[in-house]
Amino acid sequence: MKMLPPHRHRSSLEEPLRLSDLPGIIDWSGKIAYLDRDGVLNKWREGYVNSPEELEMLDGAGFAVGLLRRNGFRICIVTNQSPVGRGLWGHDVLSQIHDSLQEQLLNEDKDAEIDLILYSPYPPDQGAWARKPRPGMLEAGRQLIENSEFNSDQPTSISYGKNWINRPSEKGSILVGDRESDILAAETFGVKGIRCNPETGIAGVIDMIISPELEGQN
Ligand SMILES: [Mg+2]
Repeated sequence: MKMLPPHRHRSSLEEPLRLSDLPGIIDWSGKIAYLDRDGVLNKWREGYVNSPEELEMLDGAGFAVGLLRRNGFRICIVTNQSPVGRGLWGHDVLSQIHDSLQEQLLNEDKDAEIDLILYSPYPPDQGAWARKPRPGMLEAGRQLIENSEFNSDQPTSISYGKNWINRPSEKGSILVGDRESDILAAETFGVKGIRCNPETGIAGVIDMIISPELEGQN
């Protein structure tokens, strides 16, 4: 298995992450919502989402992300984006797509801020540790967010697989994805995986994560 590392939206991977405060007066309790992108936040598209114009949001995705943050979750997107590695288009196009994704989430809910976007640009045949169903993006996401919350503005030195010891608990954290590869990545990593229907995305499972009667009591 090759340690081809994840890539990070508009940043080098290990650069210090600037997290904005969670909504209200919530202190972070260590919960991360790891979210797949296509079929979770935006519509899955045959032949990939190839430009910001092709990005079509799923109803209620912004509200669901805002609700997660209001309930103390940090938000980390973990998305396989092999078109980059296949040479169909570059990291710059993906950056534009992700800027648009963030903007549209915030248009629906002002709390729907994404804390971190990680992606795997590698085609499947490269066997990258960062490509789901392998857990490299989740491993990097946890370490980047923890380091930013608790340590410093120093770069994070990320460890993977067996080299990462003393892992923090993923109790209370979740992964939401629409594919078997998402759920397998969650299992290997050790976080609760929730499979959603790509037609409804995260809005269709948000009540399983945050029950309506608990909302606002966190
Ligand atoms: Mg998906």
